[in-house]
Amino acid sequence: MNALLHLTHDCNLRCPYCFTGKKFDRAMSSETAAQTVQFVVDYAQQQGQRAVFSFFGGEPMMAWERMKEIVLLAEEAAAKAGVTALFRMNTNGMLIKEEHLAFFEEHDLIFILSIDGNEAMHDAERRTEGGIGSFDTIARKVPRFLEHNPGMMASVVITPTNLAHTADGLKYLLDAGFRYLIIKPDVTQAWSRANIEELERQYGLVADDYMMRCRRGDEVYINLFDDKWINHTKGAEGITIRCDVGTSQISIAPSGKLYPCVRWVKEDEADEEHSGVPSLGDVWKGFAAEPLAKIRAESAAPKSPCGDCSYNDGRCANECACEHYSATGRIDTPAPALCEHEQVMVPIADRVGNALWAEQNPVFLRKLYPRLTQIRVDRTDDSTHATTKPTDGANV
Ligand code: SF4
Ligand code: SF4
Repeated sequence: MNALLHLTHDCNLRCPYCFTGKKFDRAMSSETAAQTVQFVVDYAQQQGQRAVFSFFGGEPMMAWERMKEIVLLAEEAAAKAGVTALFRMNTNGMLIKEEHLAFFEEHDLIFILSIDGNEAMHDAERRTEGGIGSFDTIARKVPRFLEHNPGMMASVVITPTNLAHTADGLKYLLDAGFRYLIIKPDVTQAWSRANIEELERQYGLVADDYMMRCRRGDEVYINLFDDKWINHTKGAEGITIRCDVGTSQISIAPSGKLYPCVRWVKEDEADEEHSGVPSLGDVWKGFAAEPLAKIRAESAAPKSPCGDCSYNDGRCANECACEHYSATGRIDTPAPALCEHEQVMVPIADRVGNALWAEQNPVFLRKLYPRLTQIRVDRTDDSTHATTKPTDGANV
């Protein structure tokens, strides 16, 4: 089980696209943290799974002492139960210092960094409460972060506001040394026709840059291309980048309530009467059978406008139930903006993939057809991570 632990509702930034609700000072208590550890380890043991603790927020580093406490408790509980515990985090990185990196190293805690590109792109959205951009602070830390973990993933959000800087912003990240980029358009916003046209232009430039890097032998992963090819090579039955809210992944609020995924937690207002916000139980009483069964059935159902669409073969990134729920109020109905985005992106990814295949590009072949080429892929822990669906932490 991948348990996303929302350690606090608070954050040191105020990104307008943030989906985790209002920011206020309410963190998970020590008692709730201890019960959460036990709940996750017990569940993993019963299901024969690993116990993955993914720290989330708000900004999880604002609850650093609690995070440390949880890691130590989880290691102990997992060892007793004979379960493997893994630690992950989605962070804006602003508060991370050497002492934290040493702890991450010791406990094998891997973090995904939210950074939206170069200064123009990043500061268009990622600002403090006083409106000050956070790029300078985070850019100074990036070289040390990449030294700590050369496979560190960058999580990037594209919006109508920062769209014009997309190609330059992503080029900046790759030039800075990132090898793994997880890019998500914010499809909960309205995208105009002009925005979609600009998106197509920007993605064309990103594709040219990506091909240039493949041709010179750089091993980079960009979800916009690679996820589509991974699914394509596996065929519809083998699609790995899937979403199954409430099954292999759940969110746990600072209060200890369980939610299907990150976007449902918000201010943690779920209660018996508030049916619009489904809570699946809590870490004391466990899962409530009825809402859990309902969300699992809805999550597994076909997406409503996608039945005959030729892109609905794993190439369209229409798998995120949590994102659909935020945009349309239904987990089986993708946002119109997502559909438009994918109609732009799939043909570009096809064009790039076909060109690299025709050239028998070694990087492309090694990534997608390792057995065919008899070349061993360098599957470090991070590259393995890169080929599974990342936490929907793009905005965090
Ligand atoms: S492009 Fe649109 S209709 Fe086609 S699969 Fe994707 S979201 Fe569904
Ligand atoms: S997106 Fe992340 S960094 Fe920005 S306000 Fe939300 S929680 Fe904070």
